[in-house]
Amino acid sequence: MTIQEALEKLRSKELSVTELVQAYLKRIETLEPKLNAYLTITKDFALEKARELDKKGDFGAPLAGIPMNLKDVVCTQGIRTTACSKILENFVPPYDAVVWQRLKKADCVLLGKTGTDEFTMGSSNENSAFGPVRNPWNREYVPGGSSGGPAASVIADETIFSIGTDTGGSIRQPASLCSCVGLKVTYGRVSRWGVIPYASSLDTIGPLTKTVEDAAIVLSVIAGQSEEDSTTPAVPVPDYAKCLRKSLKGKTVGIPEEFFKKGVEPETEKAVRDGIEVLKKLGAKVEKLSMPLVKYSIPTYYFIAKSEASTNLARYDGIRFGHATDKPIEELEDLYAKSRAEGFGEEVKRAIMLGTYALSAGYYDAYYLKAAKVRALMKQEYEKAFQTCDALITPTSPFPAFGIGEKMDDPIAMYSADTLTTSINLAGVCAMSVPAGFSKNGLPIGMQIIGPQFGEEKVLHVGYAFEQATEWHKKRPKLN
Ligand code: GLN
Repeated sequence: MTIQEALEKLRSKELSVTELVQAYLKRIETLEPKLNAYLTITKDFALEKARELDKKGDFGAPLAGIPMNLKDVVCTQGIRTTACSKILENFVPPYDAVVWQRLKKADCVLLGKTGTDEFTMGSSNENSAFGPVRNPWNREYVPGGSSGGPAASVIADETIFSIGTDTGGSIRQPASLCSCVGLKVTYGRVSRWGVIPYASSLDTIGPLTKTVEDAAIVLSVIAGQSEEDSTTPAVPVPDYAKCLRKSLKGKTVGIPEEFFKKGVEPETEKAVRDGIEVLKKLGAKVEKLSMPLVKYSIPTYYFIAKSEASTNLARYDGIRFGHATDKPIEELEDLYAKSRAEGFGEEVKRAIMLGTYALSAGYYDAYYLKAAKVRALMKQEYEKAFQTCDALITPTSPFPAFGIGEKMDDPIAMYSADTLTTSINLAGVCAMSVPAGFSKNGLPIGMQIIGPQFGEEKVLHVGYAFEQATEWHKKRPKLN
């Protein structure tokens, strides 16, 4: 069910919240042995909230009675939040993240917390300390990362929608690999307060849904200034769902050719080029353009992301948060080193080493500072593109889902999954992945729609028009 469908049934009393929530809990119970999308299932909490809403009988709130889940980096008061790391295995936050406060106020029902790569570092979900999530279209394949749990649970209908995070592609790439809609908002559109950070100048929070309209509905609830996060400006929040039903006539979509080059598989390229034809038929003007700096996005992104990660991870010292070693220790340094060696996985250790190196005296100018300069130029490249275009169209991922284990021995091959998504985070603009086709072996392909800063309306508008003209979003995996 979509949000809109469920709301109608709840408001007309065709269905009670308890019935709806029970149906979802049952589906989770049946599918979880196959998918492993959930880390924590908040059954009692969900049923209590459902009963409370049924008793009140008031469905005035925008998401009243809608079952949903949160990626396990969003802090939930009294509910375990792990970031899929051993170091936070038993961490129970004393407060709610702002995004969860807002969804709670809109009367959502939380079904549980879903799987991610450890501290959201990864593109396949295999970096989770609690076992990888499986792709519902083929369980031998990865669901993408890091929001693999949110994406798999949405398309397998183990939830109506989910909230993920995107630092370099973590909402869009799994949405693409699982065939759902994934919206990465403009930096600062949604408060990050209470969400466990990866790289603070790149992190964003957004919805994963079955349709573009659902993404618009959720965004209107979670977006906007928050006192707790000074990077959220007072840009007004429109009713995003109201901006969808317009013609594409007179709109210009740009095709940056660099996004179709090296490493993009022919089937992916074809699906997205076909998608562009659909937009043309709907009346959009198509304009080719060049964005030469995109080819530097992987080194630029990884130096910045890992540098920021290395400082953010310094708080996990075996004292203030999470796991502390049981081994004998001689001095304080020893406690830090042993607790971290035991608590962090390989990719997180790699981030600490690479980031610390890039920030150290003598290397700072050559790596971190240089990356920061490239980032500034990349931002200008996007600003220039949006002087003539309303939105840009590219593939989301260069390839469809890959096999579990296939890229784990080669971090560079794994990083290449982010070639087409990371520059958007570096520039701070917004983008959305929408279902746009399937490969010969039945794996989903996503199309990325990129918009200017605070241009979510434009992205949703193009995405909605495309969705109405195609059938890809209606396809569901067979899960028996
Ligand atoms: N795969 C990328 C990384 O590991 C992006 C992850 C993300 O967006 N959180 O950095």
